[in-house]
Amino acid sequence: FTEDVAGKVVLITGASSGIGESLAYEYAKRGASLVLAARREKSLQEVAERARDLGATDVVVVRADVSKVEDCRRIVDQAINHFGRLDHLVNNAGITAVAMLEEIEDITDFRAIMDINFWGYVYMTKFALPYLRNSNGRIIVLSSSASWLSTPRMSIYNASKAAISQFYETLRVEIGQDVGITLVTPGFIESELTQGKIMNKEGKHIVDQDMRDVQVNVIPIMNVESCAKAIVRGATRGERYVTEPTWFKVTYFW
Ligand code: NDP
Repeated sequence: FTEDVAGKVVLITGASSGIGESLAYEYAKRGASLVLAARREKSLQEVAERARDLGATDVVVVRADVSKVEDCRRIVDQAINHFGRLDHLVNNAGITAVAMLEEIEDITDFRAIMDINFWGYVYMTKFALPYLRNSNGRIIVLSSSASWLSTPRMSIYNASKAAISQFYETLRVEIGQDVGITLVTPGFIESELTQGKIMNKEGKHIVDQDMRDVQVNVIPIMNVESCAKAIVRGATRGERYVTEPTWFKVTYFW
């Protein structure tokens, strides 16, 4: 069985770059209607334009910060106001930061990882759930192989991914009869995240040199396009897990 998503409504967080952007194009090629959310509106508009060219039925762009509960409520409200339904929620927006715990100067800076990678997913799921129940929809979750790896300098990121995986494994027991959950655990994919591009405290996107230095020691094993293809294939087949054999072959030289 492969679900036909033509005309269905797919909400993707973190659609302004990387895996989320490629997911927008994969769904667009299948004729889905899209709600694209992230903080960079201009990038989202560019993604929306390309998605329309590729075959998306309709595209709505929402500038929002998923670490803020009211923004998450607004994303779902806008989706429902415009389309009246929601079929797939793709929780993808995520950040990372790298440092040995002992070297972190202000530990509170690292709370943002949990606010976005954990709470952002939880808020989105909470507000989308009534509509996903109505449509017998699906939640696609970008967790990570980091949820089971013990890579130094990434303890807080890895913990955020382990936490979100366990959140959805438990939610599956609560809602799995009515709403599907596809848990995705990629390895190292070349993207802004793995190139060290971050939003700084002033709200500007910059390259974090520490992160860049760590990431150059890791071998990228897949591009965002093939990652997105694997995800949409798995989601439309109703798979509970999407993982690729190569994703287990992450090689770190730390
Ligand atoms: P990117 O940095 O390219 O994409 C991250 C996306 O999230 C961007 O669109 C960014 O947009 C958005 N985002 C970040 N913070 C927020 C926020 N507070 N509110 C709304 N949107 C936000 O990275 P990837 O594509 O690589 O990452 C996508 C997901 O895949 C993440 O959850 C990541 O952890 C996961 N993943 C990535 C792997 C990899 O190797 N690349 C491996 C395993 C998992 P903007 O800045 O405009 O808000």
